[in-house]
Amino acid sequence: MKTNTMISPLMQTYNRFHVNPVKGKGCYVWDADGHQYLDFTSGIGTCNLGHVPDAVKTKLMQQLENLWHCSNLYHINVQEQLAAALTENSCLEQVFFCNSGAEANEAAIKLARLYHPERSNIITFQQSFHGRTMATLSASGQEKIQIGFAPLLSGFTQFPYNDLDHLTKLKEELPAAVMLELVQGEGGVHPAEQQWIDELVQICTDDDILLIVDEVQTGMGRTGTLFAHEQYGFDPDVVTIAKGLGSGFPIGAMMAKKEVSKAFQPGTHGSTFGGNPLAATAGLATINELQHTSAIVNGEEKSHILLTYLNQLKQDFPQLKAIRGRGLLIGIETDSSAGDIVKAAIKEKLLILTAGPTVIRLLPPLTITEDDVTLFAKKFRNALQQVYA
Ligand code: PLP
Repeated sequence: MKTNTMISPLMQTYNRFHVNPVKGKGCYVWDADGHQYLDFTSGIGTCNLGHVPDAVKTKLMQQLENLWHCSNLYHINVQEQLAAALTENSCLEQVFFCNSGAEANEAAIKLARLYHPERSNIITFQQSFHGRTMATLSASGQEKIQIGFAPLLSGFTQFPYNDLDHLTKLKEELPAAVMLELVQGEGGVHPAEQQWIDELVQICTDDDILLIVDEVQTGMGRTGTLFAHEQYGFDPDVVTIAKGLGSGFPIGAMMAKKEVSKAFQPGTHGSTFGGNPLAATAGLATINELQHTSAIVNGEEKSHILLTYLNQLKQDFPQLKAIRGRGLLIGIETDSSAGDIVKAAIKEKLLILTAGPTVIRLLPPLTITEDDVTLFAKKFRNALQQVYA
């Protein structure tokens, strides 16, 4: 028996804050001592319906009584219903289920390579984030997550994001696919520009380059529509989702057009847990809620209120340089350490995120009320006062 009690049994992959939530409801969490925190992180854009949404909870409780897991060697009705709901509500026609965003992107990368066997390269973008597996970190445009992991996987080239002129190089490269986020989340909350997307879509269409949109963070209503690409007015060939799909229950999905999906055949890809009965139940209940309640519209309304408030706050705090984002994926560029503001916010019992060293990121649930926004405004101002006083 080991005696050293000073060493955490957890590997140190996170610098954890001294907050230990044990209960959640809506946009609040409570710690073991009963302290209430206003949660504007949604578990990093995952609990889009708030914590423990009743509709999802009820369905999960029913499913818990019946069947938790069975292999993808058999038909799983609820998984097929979820796939149908996703395809009926998008331009995509077939779905592969997995457990996370990185796995959804891995699946997309594999599908692209099979679809275009003669073109292996995939273009991604500087500052992008696609996950922590070897392929997805090789695809990502952030050196900080790649350090120490060489040799990275070959076959990924990062172009500058929102750089119209650079797109001409796509024709020379003739890659299998382009993979991008429509709002770079981890990379600092940078939305794609419409003109750049229009040009990108045109080139991809002309040269049969697959367009893979990573909607792991932007999907499931986060940016004001079910998927962010709807707002840009184009139909991607492949879309990846995770985070908000299961309301906190782990599930990811890679969705593709029929012609592209055909490249996957029995044996080419798989996942033990992907879309199992519990995960698919959470996903189906979530999409039903997003479809049949006003959550997405509410999120968009509250986004306007929040942005108006933040732009006013910018007048009082010149340290806030820019406010940007879409829907309830909001970034606040500061001229100093965003981490210091996050720590000050915790003292105010407010949970917020960073997106890089100087950007504060807000990802509240789509279901927030005006009162929640008002409370946020008070707590956030106090946090800024602590740091900038
Ligand atoms: N893609 C994007 C755009 C993300 O924001 C993330 C996670 O933050 C991922 C992929 C990876 O998702 P996961 O952590 O579920 O593997």
